[in-house]
Amino acid sequence: MNIHEFQAKELFVEYNIPTTNGLVVRSLSEIPIALERFPEKSVIKAQIHAGGRGKGTIVGTDLPGVYLARSAEDTARYIQQTLGGVLVTNQTGSQGKRIYALYLCDVVEVEHEYYLSVQLDRSTAKPMVTVSRSGGVEIEANAKNLYSIFIDPESGIHAFQIRALARALGLERRIVPNFIELVSNLYRLFCDKDATLIEINPLGLTLEGGLIALDAKVILDDNALYRHPELEALRDAAEDDPLEDRASRFSMNYVAAEGDIACIVNGAGLAMATMDMIAFYGGKAANFLDLGSRADPIQVREALRIVQENPNTRGIFVNVFGGIAQCDVVAEGILEQCPQTMPVVVRLQGASAERGQQLLRERAPSVVLENDLERSVQMIVSKVRER
Ligand code: ADP
Ligand code: MG
Repeated sequence: MNIHEFQAKELFVEYNIPTTNGLVVRSLSEIPIALERFPEKSVIKAQIHAGGRGKGTIVGTDLPGVYLARSAEDTARYIQQTLGGVLVTNQTGSQGKRIYALYLCDVVEVEHEYYLSVQLDRSTAKPMVTVSRSGGVEIEANAKNLYSIFIDPESGIHAFQIRALARALGLERRIVPNFIELVSNLYRLFCDKDATLIEINPLGLTLEGGLIALDAKVILDDNALYRHPELEALRDAAEDDPLEDRASRFSMNYVAAEGDIACIVNGAGLAMATMDMIAFYGGKAANFLDLGSRADPIQVREALRIVQENPNTRGIFVNVFGGIAQCDVVAEGILEQCPQTMPVVVRLQGASAERGQQLLRERAPSVVLENDLERSVQMIVSKVRER
């Protein structure tokens, strides 16, 4: 689960990680409060679940998602022009993300911007702390300057490891004690809250030699949220894809993709292979959808509804291998919600496949049945292309 920058910064305060002070504005009626707190300069930051805001643009304006306001009038004008608008960054996709909240904070003058993150490294199965001298915007371009240490979760992070990070950053000696405390606190936060990523980019070095988190990104482990009801409350439903959310309520896994061929498949591996094969034959999947192993008619019906609500869907491919799932049961679900307006290709194999195919042949003659995996994929790709 992603949380907003201002929420992440509240966690930082709780863990004594130096960061900016500020306030959140959610409606125009709050402008007077904002101006009272920031009568002169402020930095205003769009709160969306995506980075790259500083270089992004708010649709219909030439304003970025991170803005240095120079006066009260400037602050008020920026809030009026951007709250409720849509911010497009290199991480949001072209449709952008709507801005429901703005975070205003003090302007911090920095001498240098570093990168600092803690994340779970899959290959070593250990928490990994990464730093770079060249933080700020577009860290991706500077990936070669990254330096990482790996932490044994049993023994925790050691001071010598943090000193190695400080050396990699070229920190002056007088700053190192602050840095050790900051990284220790960050690691404690990472463990306590079951985070999978905490990223501070940039970590600013102030003119007085202090370190301060100017930006904050935190991703929490969904599977551990039951241990942290107070963190579950930070969820911003407006940021979640409503279709993904609906699928999960029916114990299915749905992730939208960019193409136009909707896939309804049982099993994550088969779903991935199906998407690959669609691409191989020149099509583009509109989504990943794993029905799960049971695949009852209610799930199948709901899956068909969900993929039809995706406006990009121009054809549907159902690929089910019966095992625990019974193909005739899947067929009943298809019959309940089968669209007449777009091509539907169904491959049913395995348990009760013949009975399932029979049902569809009798009651949904527009559905194309094909048992061979490759041929069925070719079929849906060509049918969608013909439209
Ligand atoms: P994003 O990563 O989404 O672009 P950031 O919070 O990192 O957003 O802001 C972009 C840039 O704006 C930062 O790299 C930093 O240079 C500057 N910035 C952000 N917050 C402040 C602040 N409080 N004071 C001064 N500069 C800031
Ligand atoms: Mg940033």
